Amino acid sequence: MNRTYVDLRSDTVTKPGPAMRAAMANADVGDDVYGEDPTVRALEDRVAELFGHSFALFAPTGVMANQIAIRLGVRPGGELVLDADAHIVAHEDAAAAWHGGIQTRTTLSPRGLLDPADLARLIRVGNPYTVGTDLVAVEQTHNRGGGSVYPLDRLVAIRDLVHGSGLRLHCDGARIWNAHAATGTPLRAYGELFDTLSVCLSKGLGAPAGSVVLLPAEYEADARRMRHRMGGGLRQAGILAAGGLYALDHHIERLVEDHERARELYTLLTDAGLTVTEPETNIVLVELGATGPDTAEVVARCHAERVSVSAFGPRLLRLVTHLDVDAAGCARAAAAIVRAAKD
Ligand SMILES: *Cc1c(COP(=O)(O)O)cnc(C)c1O
Repeated sequence: MNRTYVDLRSDTVTKPGPAMRAAMANADVGDDVYGEDPTVRALEDRVAELFGHSFALFAPTGVMANQIAIRLGVRPGGELVLDADAHIVAHEDAAAAWHGGIQTRTTLSPRGLLDPADLARLIRVGNPYTVGTDLVAVEQTHNRGGGSVYPLDRLVAIRDLVHGSGLRLHCDGARIWNAHAATGTPLRAYGELFDTLSVCLSKGLGAPAGSVVLLPAEYEADARRMRHRMGGGLRQAGILAAGGLYALDHHIERLVEDHERARELYTLLTDAGLTVTEPETNIVLVELGATGPDTAEVVARCHAERVSVSAFGPRLLRLVTHLDVDAAGCARAAAAIVRAAKD
């Protein structure tokens, strides 16, 4: 019996390997609040270059990276339009409302991907008794949508609509690397569509922590102040940034392997009769039947077999493939899930 834990709860559970740790241990560092950490600067320049932007800011978490962009893009009392299952709505503890006094106006969309026609109905011009939209946000790939990918032409249509309405477009690109790996779309082709863009280094890329937010250059001073105000002014953050740089060098192209693992899970689970959303990237959603064990029960049964999966709803599981699970681990997890989901 294989005793190793197969942890499919999230692609955040990966641990840095020896080469990444060596890069981190040897990083050249300085005080980043003074703007003196050369490794943080190198990471910011690198990410800006990858997406064709002129200004990038390191942030300790993806939530903070999103919140910096949102708060710079929406006045207090202003409105952010996005899909109802967006991470910004579902998983950021109402930070936009709490910190920014920002109203969200949302719509449920298939697999979380906004339709330009729906969006055209949602965005609105303000007047003395109607709040106006300041910012629109998309999520690429979409987490709750099961790692779904916006086709490039849909994003172009959204960008044209948003800019044509005189608004700005933000992308929560925590997993935009997976969209790039799955479709071959150059990162720059994504970068040029968005006024602001947040990317995570600690999801599929496997760094222990860190995100980067891309912003218009004129936001720099405000963005640094906003990050500091939220408690994100780190000192020798180059140790973290070095992990991010290592991840950019070594872990982008290999994401296709995670996508293959997700496909294998999908095949094994559907062959066993489970209802599974077809994965486009590294996330697999499993819908449990109306009768039989519920999510909590399935999670507990899997746990007993040393397999971890996420509860994503009363009858919905999320499985995420990543750097630290191989094909054999996925096969073992699939068998455990199939047993657990049976009555
Ligand atoms: C994980 C994630 C984030 C950021 O989360 P942190 O845990 O704060 O790094 C943002 N957006 C999406 C879509 C995510 O999956």
